[in-house]
Amino acid sequence: MQALVFDGPGCIRYDAGRPDPELRTPTDAIVDVEVAGLCGSDLHPYLGREPAGSGVVPGHEVVGRISAVGAEVAERRVGDRVLVPFSTSCGRCARCEEGLTARCERGALFGYGPPGDPAGALDGGQAQRLRVPWADATLRLVPTWMDEPTALLCSDNLPTAWEAVARADPRPGHPLVVVGLGTVGLCAVAVARAQAAGPVVAIDPIADRRDRAAALGADLALAPEDALEEPLLAGGVSSVVEASGSSAGQRLAFTVTAPGGTCSVIAVQTAERFALSPAEAYDRNLTLRFGRANVLATLPLVLTALADGRLPSPAQVCVTHPDVALRDGPKAYARFAAREPGLVKIAFRP
Ligand SMILES: [Zn+2]
Ligand SMILES: [Zn+2]
Repeated sequence: MQALVFDGPGCIRYDAGRPDPELRTPTDAIVDVEVAGLCGSDLHPYLGREPAGSGVVPGHEVVGRISAVGAEVAERRVGDRVLVPFSTSCGRCARCEEGLTARCERGALFGYGPPGDPAGALDGGQAQRLRVPWADATLRLVPTWMDEPTALLCSDNLPTAWEAVARADPRPGHPLVVVGLGTVGLCAVAVARAQAAGPVVAIDPIADRRDRAAALGADLALAPEDALEEPLLAGGVSSVVEASGSSAGQRLAFTVTAPGGTCSVIAVQTAERFALSPAEAYDRNLTLRFGRANVLATLPLVLTALADGRLPSPAQVCVTHPDVALRDGPKAYARFAAREPGLVKIAFRP
């Protein structure tokens, strides 16, 4: 099959002859990929910010159709059109049962290999097919009414944004700030509206992304250097979402969080230290929340909000390149890493 392969920092290789995945356990399924997203977190290993094993197929945002199931797969069937979240969940451990599905005791991330151990990696979806362990608990049906770009966002970015905003404790009538306007940050702007926050302030250095945030309902879209001059942010705000993943973004997010406020850090973190001191956190009574979103647990809330119209889909604004061929993958990674204007979300169509 065709696939992209991560061969170390700066090196994404197109492979037209990657062996097809096979069922390995009775709870596996094989999914034929319809579309696979390129995520900001794919850039961490690509840019060498996060150690990762070579030889792995990246990609953890997938919409596809099941083409084979193991003998113990009971709920999902061949032919089902499904969302593949970024990590697998067994559905039966204590963490899965309490809704911490992203930290399943038996779970694995798609598309990231432990350094030095290619055998331990779970290949991702930037390929024509992928193997999905724990298929019954991991895969979700795509609602029949949903368009493809929205379905792609539902595999990761939109539930991630939903959880990020909820963790920021939005208060009706009070401003909410989103720092970093990649796809998760842009989705968070739309979600903040759906979760009834007050004025939404979006911050990013790229003008094109600020324009997109405004299109999704941000009341103010600011460059970072202008944020501290903004009267609405003087004295800080009670709810902040950090979606940039950079130390500078983290620092700004902490700076604009008011005493007693909550800063929800959703971006994957690769820095060695927080961009604030324990004393600063103490002196402002900050609540900090971190961590990977629990897509499977949160998805029902997102689907309900999309279905009842509270959350207009941000897909048309975010998925800027919905139809990129896998053979153009190496170029696509380079363009995304260079933060090319007008490019937010690339979707590979194998
Ligand atoms: Zn992602
Ligand atoms: Zn589990």
